[in-house]
Amino acid sequence: MSSGELVALVCCDLGSIVRGRSVFSSELEEHLETGVGWAPANHALTPLGPVAEPNPFGATGDLRLLPDPATRVRVGGSTGESALELLLCDIVEIDGKPWSCCPRSFLRDALAAVESLLGGRVMASFEHEFQLLLDTPAALPFSLEAQRRSEPFATRVMNALVEAGVEPERFFPEYAPHQFEIPVAAAEGLASADRSVVLREVVREIARGLDMRASFVPLRDPGEAGNGVHIHLSLLDAGGRSLLYDDARPAGLSELGGSFAAGILRHARALSALTAPSPVSGARLRPHRWSAGAVCLAQQSREALLRIPPLVSLGGGDPASQLHLEYRGADASANPYLALGAILRAGLAGVSERLPAPSILERDPAELDDAGAERFGVGALPESLADALEALEQDDLVREWMGSLLYDAYTSVKRAELAAAEGVHLEESCRRYAAIY
Ligand code: GLU
Ligand code: MG
Repeated sequence: MSSGELVALVCCDLGSIVRGRSVFSSELEEHLETGVGWAPANHALTPLGPVAEPNPFGATGDLRLLPDPATRVRVGGSTGESALELLLCDIVEIDGKPWSCCPRSFLRDALAAVESLLGGRVMASFEHEFQLLLDTPAALPFSLEAQRRSEPFATRVMNALVEAGVEPERFFPEYAPHQFEIPVAAAEGLASADRSVVLREVVREIARGLDMRASFVPLRDPGEAGNGVHIHLSLLDAGGRSLLYDDARPAGLSELGGSFAAGILRHARALSALTAPSPVSGARLRPHRWSAGAVCLAQQSREALLRIPPLVSLGGGDPASQLHLEYRGADASANPYLALGAILRAGLAGVSERLPAPSILERDPAELDDAGAERFGVGALPESLADALEALEQDDLVREWMGSLLYDAYTSVKRAELAAAEGVHLEESCRRYAAIY
């Protein structure tokens, strides 16, 4: 009989809940080859607990969670407490073929399409906000006081993230009560989404160790700022040069970058069903919440779904390596692999169709009249999950990227969440989702 420490073999499911099974660390080696058992119906589990009914899986079928050795993370465990040790897994058939609902495979395929169509690779970073669920009065937004009051959480979490290989860059208090943000360094392709999954689990783990709960809920309270996940992405050619940058063009966005952005905006409403997919997500994405109030491209405005963050020339900063797109419309109820994969597919569709670059809006989109909105291509994001699912249903291309089984499984989970939220006040839904995420 083995004994000793446990290592968790996990995947991030369609509702962005991390689930899996643990084995003794001493037996990990054999599981690297064969994984551990898994069932299709696990991907019909809702974030609320019960399985979604109806769902395309039923009680039959067998799969494997196959760990990716490159994702091994170990945090803590030095003071007699159990370490958090995990490996992220692909979900495969029992013969090793990728399962058609595996989110990591979905992103891997999208990255391969970027590579083959553009000869490029993707660098991305998921910028997370979260809140400590405390009843104590909060210190002022962005204040040093807020950060110091959170100690030893701030220091512990930053060091744990370093240990986990997530490369945290900064820690700071945000606008809402007990809200914090931890930007991390960009990583290539799949690793960027792996980082997003690991960051959330490490933040929750460190909070748990201090008898607190950290929640990535999209909106904790309708009267407060929400918790966004802004996805920053750039495309590099084989020589490491940015495919998005051209200093001769508006905002430095290349022709290819413009088409890429236009593709994302064109599919934005359907993408929302994958990037902001909880019943409380829509309430975060309203004008004047500094989240993403409108479907448009802006150079600096935080009201736009897509933003080109500033190119800092101070200290001799190189604009080409800085220029990237920031998709502000995601939150932590989104599976990061599905979210990034779908954004990339949408961008690629824009490039394939050679869509013209969107106008870059420098004003508050909410101030535009109808003619102005048309001129700048400004549209509205779905107001609710029901609207987002409707947009997804009507967007043949996005459904095609997903494939029918993933589409059916995904929408069964989302429809079950919608049904459970029906007639529930937004405040109560926010409370429920704060306890989940
Ligand atoms: N909290 C805002 C959101 O929900 C983001 C604020 C910011 O960091 O720009 O996305
Ligand atoms: Mg922020």
